[in-house]
Amino acid sequence: MDYQKSTVIFSSNSVQEVHLKRAQLESEGVPAFVSDDNTSTWFPHLAQAIGGAKLHVAEKFEQQAREILDLLQPKLSCPDCHDNRVVFINNAPFWSTLLSVYFGFPIPVHRQPHYHCSSCQNRWAPQEKEF
Ligand SMILES: [Zn+2]
Repeated sequence: MDYQKSTVIFSSNSVQEVHLKRAQLESEGVPAFVSDDNTSTWFPHLAQAIGGAKLHVAEKFEQQAREILDLLQPKLSCPDCHDNRVVFINNAPFWSTLLSVYFGFPIPVHRQPHYHCSSCQNRWAPQEKEF
C-alpha cells in the first residue's frame, strides 16, 4: 500500500478498537493498517495528545471502507431528543494529559465512560451489556 496515498478513516485512544475495525475491513477485502498504536499502548497518557491510534486505508478504498464501518456501527440516538449526533466518551480529561506531560509520568484519572448528545448536551451511562 502506498502510504502517501492513504487516508485516516478512524482514530481512537482504544488501540483494540482500531485493530478490531482494521480486522473487520480486511475480512471484507479492504487492505488497511494502523499507525500510532505502539505509542498509544506504551504511553497511554500521550494517546490523546497524538490523536490516538489511527486506521488508514488507501484513498481508492475510502468510500468502501466507510460504508463497511458505517454498517457495523451501532445506531445510537439520544433518549431525550432522539437526535443521532451521539458520541461515546471513554478517555481521560484533557487536563490530566497536560499534567501527565508536565510531570513526566501518567496521572491516573478515572472517568466514567458515557454517551454525550451534541444536540441537547444530555449525558448518560452505557448499559452494561454494551461492553
Ligand atoms: Zn439529545
